[in-house]
Amino acid sequence: MSEPGLAERLASVDAGIAEAARLAGRDPAEVTRIVVTKFHPASLVRELAALGVHEVGENRHQEAQAKARELEDLDLEWHFVGQLQSKKARQVREYAAVLHSLDRDSVVDALAGGEPIVDGFVQLNLTDDPGRGGTGDADALLRIAERVLTGGGIRLLGVMAVAPLDVEPARAFAEVRRQSERLRELAPEADRISAGMSHDYREAVAAGATHLRIGTAITGKRPERG
Ligand SMILES: *Cc1c(COP(=O)(O)O)cnc(C)c1O
Repeated sequence: MSEPGLAERLASVDAGIAEAARLAGRDPAEVTRIVVTKFHPASLVRELAALGVHEVGENRHQEAQAKARELEDLDLEWHFVGQLQSKKARQVREYAAVLHSLDRDSVVDALAGGEPIVDGFVQLNLTDDPGRGGTGDADALLRIAERVLTGGGIRLLGVMAVAPLDVEPARAFAEVRRQSERLRELAPEADRISAGMSHDYREAVAAGATHLRIGTAITGKRPERG
């Protein structure tokens, strides 16, 4: 038997999402599946687009910018999921429709009042490692959210997180859900949750995720980091 190809992997993940949504009593249409294409060539993104993929994710500015330029002819929505530098944030906004990794005042300030308005998630760090993206505590999360709301330039969508490797995904996502509920007391419309990757998207859907960032389960193994 041959290895499943890109189309089969995409279909299989989409079936998994639909199934997880059904089990959670949710409408799969309220879940946005982003294909994370980092390290893969633009040609793979083109293949994905031909299969009907519209939302793609990248985590490094230079790579993302180059791909977005090369694929300008396609109808794609670029999601930036990597750590953002305040110096680069305005450049990222030029091609990305959604920033998943707002975690610092300096980044929020760099985007404040600018155009075009970009959608943004405030990122929560669920690990003990401050070097990971995201704010380490819930109060900081709300403080950054408040800064987004007052600064303008960003439409606040909700909370983003990556489940730590050493924690059961369901537990990690329950915490994300709690933080999302707290955020909604401050910003009722910021009710989206970006969580769930190749290995834990089912648990994320069960916990209410609205945006899944899925790489290898769809793209196959990533080439070595260039
Ligand atoms: C790479 C990446 C993903 C996708 O990871 P997979 O395990 O390949 O699905 C999702 N979110 C972020 C922030 C990433 O950097």
